[in-house]
Amino acid sequence: LQRMAGELRGAGVKRVNISLDSLRPRRFRQLTRHGCLEQVIAGIDAAIAAGFEEVRINAVILKGRNDDEVLDLVDFACRRGIDIAFIEEMPLGRIVEHDRALSLASSDELRASISRRYRLASLGDPAGNAGPARYYSLSGQRSRVGFISPHSSNFCHLCNRVRVTAEGRLLLCLGNEHSADLRAVLRHPRHTLTDLKREIVAAMAIKPERHHFDLAGEPEIVRFMNMTGG
Ligand code: SF4
Repeated sequence: LQRMAGELRGAGVKRVNISLDSLRPRRFRQLTRHGCLEQVIAGIDAAIAAGFEEVRINAVILKGRNDDEVLDLVDFACRRGIDIAFIEEMPLGRIVEHDRALSLASSDELRASISRRYRLASLGDPAGNAGPARYYSLSGQRSRVGFISPHSSNFCHLCNRVRVTAEGRLLLCLGNEHSADLRAVLRHPRHTLTDLKREIVAAMAIKPERHHFDLAGEPEIVRFMNMTGG
């Protein structure tokens, strides 16, 4: 991101979300398996300098692993005047590092710990753009804190999100495998932009209503988030 921020902004990208689960280099590497904290922070600062309309940090908090950094992460976002969203971990992909049911830090718990330092005021339910985060203002700060709560407060009924993978698959839901193959349309010699638009619109008819995540059972989706993209 450090290298590409200016170009992405120039190409018309308006907002970026950047995952940041820890501010401690060694822990960050453990949580991400290979990530370099310094590089990610440099990317965040480059995104701010490039003038995106919105820069947001996304953090997944796990009990016993990084739940002692909630306030540090909020402070980090406030110092830079950017938003931060806390996302309850979703059971995407098989993992062995922790038990998802035991490590879930719910949005309510996180909100309670943040409100020990900041006065939080709800900015209302997501309406218009139907984003999944429920935002709160933080007293005396430009930054907002959001909570994305797939377990404790399902928001699927508000969702209008779809994602395109690097392989051109239009994924219609994070918690299901329903998809449309846009690459096939793009590569077809006789297909035009109109065909592509038609394929996208037609795909909306099979967008699932909701996920069926069950923390106690096997993950329903074995696809990891890094295969999905944002
Ligand atoms: S419908 Fe699917 S993509 Fe939308 S919020 Fe629910 S799980 Fe996520």
